[in-house]
Amino acid sequence: MNNDFCQKFIFEDADVRGELVRLNTSYQEVISKASYPPPVKKLLGELMCASVLLSATLKFDGSLTIHARSNGAIPLLMAECRSHQLVRATAHIDEKSLQSPELANNHDLQALLQDGKLAIHIQPKNGKQYQGVIPLEHSSLSACLEDYFTHSEQSPTKLIFTSEGDYTSGLLIQAQHTSQHAATHQESGKSQSRWDHLTQLIQNAHPSEILALPIERLLTRTFPSESMRIFDKKAISFDCTCTRERTLSALSAMDRSELKSLLEKKSVIVVDCQFCSTRYKFANTDISHLVSEQTHDPSNRPH
Ligand SMILES: [Zn+2]
Repeated sequence: MNNDFCQKFIFEDADVRGELVRLNTSYQEVISKASYPPPVKKLLGELMCASVLLSATLKFDGSLTIHARSNGAIPLLMAECRSHQLVRATAHIDEKSLQSPELANNHDLQALLQDGKLAIHIQPKNGKQYQGVIPLEHSSLSACLEDYFTHSEQSPTKLIFTSEGDYTSGLLIQAQHTSQHAATHQESGKSQSRWDHLTQLIQNAHPSEILALPIERLLTRTFPSESMRIFDKKAISFDCTCTRERTLSALSAMDRSELKSLLEKKSVIVVDCQFCSTRYKFANTDISHLVSEQTHDPSNRPH
């Protein structure tokens, strides 16, 4: 049974929408790929939940990626959600730094992603792509995202992430109307106080309830006396877009001299997909033409 889903809800008497996401199978798929230490597992879960919640909120056909790059213990962390809730995620880690006493059980985002950059990238099937840089000014991913949506996107947002074992979950509420949209000052003040009230209430949601309680009960307990409409669940699955062709194109983006020395040393080049671990093997003769043909692509994006 697929336990992975997201589910939208709206408050009938407030211009606020919400979304719950729960991941198990897809999360397991991601965290079982390497022996990630607990802070990395937790962050991967949060990033996966965030990618689902944000793509559900932004409603578009295409892909949404959240990635973090840093000079610290986690050089790369990324999660992607594509149309029909297809997700994948990966992390590159510096195991030695993560074992250090300062980081072994440290969940502080700024400590784990030293000098890091967090960004959100949206690639619609049709239309222009969008990239937003999320300042890494808080110790948790939820606080960084809340700040970004509230201040840069003028969509006041409140987020709670929680993980336990192979389960990870996220609960989001987002104001649909800001003071700029309100017709009168009075209306704006009323929306603000409703929003403040709901953000107070969401803090009471217990992590274990966000992870497992049926959504009706979770929302009734978290927002008592609020009238809400809950929409149908949408199933989420792990899915990778890697192919032999894309892997070959990633190889062709490698530095020419690096590729040349690799070909001199090995008769077969083996590339494992960092998301799904599918193994692609290329005989030396399959790719030797790349050394003479290739043009260097500095972006060298993960395939
Ligand atoms: Zn793959």
